[in-house]
Amino acid sequence: MSDASSARTPAAADANLELSPDVMRAMGRAVVDRAVAHLASLSDQPSRGDVDAAALCRALREPIPERGADFELLLEHLFDELIPRSFTTPGPGYLAYIPGGGVYPAALADFIADTTNRYTGVWQAAPALVQLEANVLEWLREWMCFPEGTSGLLTPGGSMATLNAILCARERYLGTDIRGGTLYTSDQGHHSIEKSAKLAGIFADRVRLISADAQYRMRADVLKAAIAADRMAGRRPFMVVSSAGTTNTGAVDPLDAIADVCAAEGMWHHVDGAYGAFFHAVPELRPLLAGLPRADSLTLDPHKGMFLPYGTGALLVRDGSALRAVHTATAGYLPASTDEFYDPSQYGPELSRGFPGLRVWLALKLFGAARYRAAIAEKRALAVWAAERVAQIPGVVMDAWPQLSLFAFHLEGPKLATLDARNAATAALMERVTARGRVMLTGCTVAGRHLARVCVLSFRTRAGEMEACVAQLAEEAERILAS
Ligand SMILES: *Cc1c(COP(=O)(O)O)cnc(C)c1O
Repeated sequence: MSDASSARTPAAADANLELSPDVMRAMGRAVVDRAVAHLASLSDQPSRGDVDAAALCRALREPIPERGADFELLLEHLFDELIPRSFTTPGPGYLAYIPGGGVYPAALADFIADTTNRYTGVWQAAPALVQLEANVLEWLREWMCFPEGTSGLLTPGGSMATLNAILCARERYLGTDIRGGTLYTSDQGHHSIEKSAKLAGIFADRVRLISADAQYRMRADVLKAAIAADRMAGRRPFMVVSSAGTTNTGAVDPLDAIADVCAAEGMWHHVDGAYGAFFHAVPELRPLLAGLPRADSLTLDPHKGMFLPYGTGALLVRDGSALRAVHTATAGYLPASTDEFYDPSQYGPELSRGFPGLRVWLALKLFGAARYRAAIAEKRALAVWAAERVAQIPGVVMDAWPQLSLFAFHLEGPKLATLDARNAATAALMERVTARGRVMLTGCTVAGRHLARVCVLSFRTRAGEMEACVAQLAEEAERILAS
């Protein structure tokens, strides 16, 4: 007679990957202790960690470790040597690029999702959990004032949301004949738009970068002319991707006017709200994003405007059937999909996936929408407050006042005779303030001019950081202009 245990080899113990409850508890405590200590010290950490680590990175290359290592030592290595060599993106002084977040409950949600490891790719495998994700999408729909019938998808980020939007528009308007289709965005649009277009088979020679006005917003008149020119040339204009908050200067395109153009031309209007869409959650701020709810689809980035850890983007599609049409699929080994209940694999390209809905759900349930709205409104108020003061600094010329929570400016002065000199001075201002360690700032180049920028979107950024930011900008600007 043989039973399964007779399949045991002398090394059976080596094949075991399960840990005892006590060991799991101890490991969990060790991680929480490290992580919480890290978070508690964030405001004392330099805003930009020591990232000059090329030699370290070379030294880190290693073959597959044959034997396991001590958990404590691994944590020590991570927390003491590797994590600090980064931009301090979760820190209160992170005012660079578009800040992210990392609210703590979301990390716990990920822990629950990963330890319970339920399957949320198809509704039948974890219906109640998938329903939480459906609820989250419904809440985003309400915040964005999209109509019933809207469908959505949680993605790893904004880039992937935009890719799925382009697929919807392509399938609806071009069918299988995609080479004739042309797509329009502004010359301030995020580079992920062109990247996504290419992934969707809309190559660079079919993407039109429409020029922006003095406030960096897409010009609707130039858009109309470009569409007309393409029609004359026998092309098929099918989609406009506008921006609800650009990365360079925070510009909000004229969403209403663009929606009008798309309606008149029979085109799909997608709004890239990866940075700005969550300001629409605050009713008083909705006029800043007028026209947003008219879009055919919208990219949101909960890992920016909802302060979640990196790895969560979202897409809303007004006509939910368009999203489903792109992705619906069956297979003999899968349960039939339902019409009543949301089924992630029928609305997105993935089958097996993590459970991104849980982190959004837990954060919103725990904090409540009101607290979220207050936090979002506060970030804008802080940016407006700082912009008014930065504009008073001698030598500062404001290029973009905060339409949302980002403003941009450059330095001018009697000794800065050329554009190159002004660009160098503006870049030096960013670098000098960042080197002081309290806040991290990055600039951008628009039409040859280097702009300094301040973007407030970290939930940890409060009045103290903004006061320090303004004071340090004033001090360093004075020094640069005097030298
Ligand atoms: C961040 C951002 C993106 C890209 O989103 P990811 O989440 O980084 O993929 C696109 N557009 C804008 C305006 C952004 O700020």
